[in-house]
Amino acid sequence: MTLSTVAASPADREIPYYDSVGNECAMFEHAYAQRLPLLLKGPTGCGKTRFVSHMAARLGKPLFTVSCHDDLTAADLTGRYLLQGGETRWVDGPLTRAVREGGICYLDEVVEARKDVTVVLHPLTDDRRLLPLERTGELLEAPDDFMLVVSYNPGYQHILKSLKPSTRQRFVAMTFDFPPPKVERDIVARESGLEPDRCAALVNLAASLRAMKGQDLEEGISTRLLVYCATLIQAGMPIRDAARATLVEPLTDDADVQEGLMEAVQATF
Ligand code: ADP
Repeated sequence: MTLSTVAASPADREIPYYDSVGNECAMFEHAYAQRLPLLLKGPTGCGKTRFVSHMAARLGKPLFTVSCHDDLTAADLTGRYLLQGGETRWVDGPLTRAVREGGICYLDEVVEARKDVTVVLHPLTDDRRLLPLERTGELLEAPDDFMLVVSYNPGYQHILKSLKPSTRQRFVAMTFDFPPPKVERDIVARESGLEPDRCAALVNLAASLRAMKGQDLEEGISTRLLVYCATLIQAGMPIRDAARATLVEPLTDDADVQEGLMEAVQATF
């Protein structure tokens, strides 16, 4: 399979650190308890994946994560017959495993996947909670502890690549954004080991760089990139070099825009 799949069982992981910004943890718990699927919307690197792994661990459920891409088909999620040791055997995909075994299946950037994925998701995301496996002739009913979580980034979606209303209206949905400054400072400090005051300066800088979004930049600087920047500074790299490598270069290839970003960096550090 070409997709990136991560199955983590509750036994072999601690609860990943997640700093909540609102009622998202309570919302997740309610959705899980009421057997409702969840849609997370928000820019890249703002904490969606971390949130899902935190909640899965908190609920003590296995997590099946799939990073969707434009070649991902329904069969990548449900499973396929594979030749193994001269025999043809059916091998469950991550979605089927989550339905059979119970657990949380997280489809990251679901709009990237091929259209046939929707066909599989629809019967799973209404009150039937069914997963039909045409190839094996099975019709699986999702257990109470199965939950489907999907995410996408509305910021850079092409009109052809947004979720259709008939799909999105099957989910409880929440918008994620970059955390408020104090929370983001704490996250960056905790993840990088850099002292909070220095992280606060990076968070302030991020706010001014994020304000440039739309004019010249498709996306604002993610919390992930701030963590990278703080990690390099904590490791001893000069601040401006770290900032160029993490807050400027990953954002744009345009030399003029890079210069504008570097000016903002130099005004702060
Ligand atoms: P997304 O899935 O939205 O692209 P991630 O969940 O991978 O983003 O977040 C990127 C990184 O940012 C994480 O690895 C973590 O270091 C940090 N992060 C962002 N938000 C939070 C948060 N609320 N609590 C803890 N870490 C966070």
